[in-house]
Amino acid sequence: MSYETPADRRFTSDTGIIGGGLAGLTLAALLAQRGHSVTVYESDRLGGKLRRKEVGGLSFDTGPSLFTFPRVWRSFLARLGEDSDPLDLRPLPGGLGLHHTPFGAVPLPVPPGHPLHADWLRVCAAAAPVAPHLETLLTTPPRLTSAAFLRASAALARATAPHLTAEGWIRARRVHPALAHALQTHALNAGLSPADAPALYALLPALIAGHVCRPAGGMGVLLDSLHGFCTARGVQFRGGVRRLDAASGSLLLDGGEVAQHDVLVSAVDPARLAALRGLPVHSPLPRRTVSGVAVYAAFSHPVAMPATSILPPSNFAAFRAAMRAGALPPDTLALVQADGPRLAVLLTAPATARPLTPDHPWVEAQLARVEQVLEVPGLLASASAIQALDPAHYAQGGHPGGAIYGLGYPVWRGGPLHPQPYRLMPRLWQVGTGVHPGGGIPAILGGALIVDELLADS
Ligand SMILES: Cc1cc2nc3c(=O)[nH]c(=O)nc-3n(C[C@H](O)[C@H](O)[C@H](O)COP(=O)(O)OP(=O)(O)OC[C@H]3O[C@@H](n4cnc5c(N)ncnc54)[C@H](O)[C@@H]3O)c2cc1C
Repeated sequence: MSYETPADRRFTSDTGIIGGGLAGLTLAALLAQRGHSVTVYESDRLGGKLRRKEVGGLSFDTGPSLFTFPRVWRSFLARLGEDSDPLDLRPLPGGLGLHHTPFGAVPLPVPPGHPLHADWLRVCAAAAPVAPHLETLLTTPPRLTSAAFLRASAALARATAPHLTAEGWIRARRVHPALAHALQTHALNAGLSPADAPALYALLPALIAGHVCRPAGGMGVLLDSLHGFCTARGVQFRGGVRRLDAASGSLLLDGGEVAQHDVLVSAVDPARLAALRGLPVHSPLPRRTVSGVAVYAAFSHPVAMPATSILPPSNFAAFRAAMRAGALPPDTLALVQADGPRLAVLLTAPATARPLTPDHPWVEAQLARVEQVLEVPGLLASASAIQALDPAHYAQGGHPGGAIYGLGYPVWRGGPLHPQPYRLMPRLWQVGTGVHPGGGIPAILGGALIVDELLADS
């Protein structure tokens, strides 16, 4: 007996995708594989938040640096009918890295023999029942008629109940404060403080710590691969969109030309889409996810540091209050990654579109804290070149204020219960952060797989 797979279904149309970030490119390749005629409209550079930047003669890949849930990527390759994997994903040495909490340093995963290993195993055991269902949650259309989706949601509900927030779930584990603090840090993968992030995010360190990876050639290979899949399937690329009329399927392009499509897919931030449609833009500051300052430093020699070090904020309540008020917190989350002569420091900042250059006093103070905690005094002064991307930069092509993951939802709408406006109007669909809030690469890829399947069924 043979079953029809999502890849076999064949409704084809002329589709315009607005936004050439990872979400737009992923869906473009999938639809072109299905036989659609696809045009991607990109106003800046393909890749969106993932792009290559030259600093001091070295090439840096900006934006995402940790590749998680590689099985979602493999589902994408399978749907495309690609037999070989161009990414050559390699585990990152040290997993999620060393977390310098106010209660002591904690490596995640916590290795055997470490005093916190028993506590870590308890956290892993509590999270384990969700592991077999994560891929389903990320890649399956959330339909109440889908047995797989219902099973996965029920497993998640059992593992997290009665806690709605990451903070509540971690507190209930009663682990050592250092481990609790390190776990709370990862709620920020949703762009939200632990008191606002859904409980699912508290489980993530246990679910991903052993499988964090990166393409052997750097994250830029992901962009090259998606671009290559698109061009091999005949996807066309054009410039930006100034206006969108969903009822007629027409786009007014930056050059003044009008383009017409049977189907439009927005792969831009929902607030940006609203503006393109001439609708009011709704983005209250306390609901915005965080922005950041990404500092890229080039050295003439390899930097002798662990691959990943994390400095959490020392007080999550103070951090949350600052983010919601648009104020700069006294100490913020810093993610530090060393890779040969390249050093990247990502400082979490409120989404106020504020320019925060490396010589801004707050940025200088946060970088000094990094050097002090990691015991590398004067490290950045010895760099041959430094460049930074700040909330003002992230605001240009994304959500107001530079909120990296768009708007956060009330916690009870997090996880599988988040609003899923895949189809906004009969001709208008949506992928990217708008359909998977708090989503990084796995959610972006999974959202595109979902929309590809729903479009095929429509
Ligand atoms: C500093 C940083 C670190 C991160 N770290 C990680 C990580 O470690 N792991 C992980 O999984 N994720 C991470 N992420 C998140 C991840 O990078 C994003 O979720 C993902 O890149 C978003 O892709 P996207 O295609 O949805 O949106 P975007 O990348 O924002 O793409 C949207 C595109 O639309 C274009 N556009 C906007 N307006 C128009 C218009 N009018 N017409 C045409 N085009 C338009 C923009 O120019 C842009 O190219 C990180 C993000 C940042 C910024």
